[in-house]
Amino acid sequence: MTYNSQNIFAQILRNEIPSNKVYEDQWSLAFYDANPATPVHVLVIPKGKYISWADFNDNASADEIVGFSRAIAKVAKQLNIENSGYRIISNHGADSNQEVPHLHVHILAGCNLGSILPLQRSI
Ligand code: AMP
Repeated sequence: MTYNSQNIFAQILRNEIPSNKVYEDQWSLAFYDANPATPVHVLVIPKGKYISWADFNDNASADEIVGFSRAIAKVAKQLNIENSGYRIISNHGADSNQEVPHLHVHILAGCNLGSILPLQRSI
């Protein structure tokens, strides 16, 4: 799978469509999810062209990986959810139902998040 530069997060990075920005640095951009699943729902994306965590791990530089990881923690601090708690999720591929093919980490917070998945199924 090759990176599709027309995906919606690539358009946000190019300022072709607006986002409700929370944080930005050299490596990363964070903005509120347009369809929040929890009272606080922010997406953190790397500025580089990576489809998912697997692509990022294989192809990003160490500086990009460290920068992105630190950005996630900085956003959580900025959102004041360190004490109350939060969950980070990143979907990769079909079984995860990843919709946007640009790596993103969901930060979910603002209420008790319950079990790790809403649908518990036998495996
Ligand atoms: P995923 O299923 O992990 O690919 O999640 C994609 C997320 O992107 C969903 O939670 C959407 O609500 C969110 N989303 C899609 N378009 C936008 C947008 N233009 N601005 C903010 N969030 C968006």
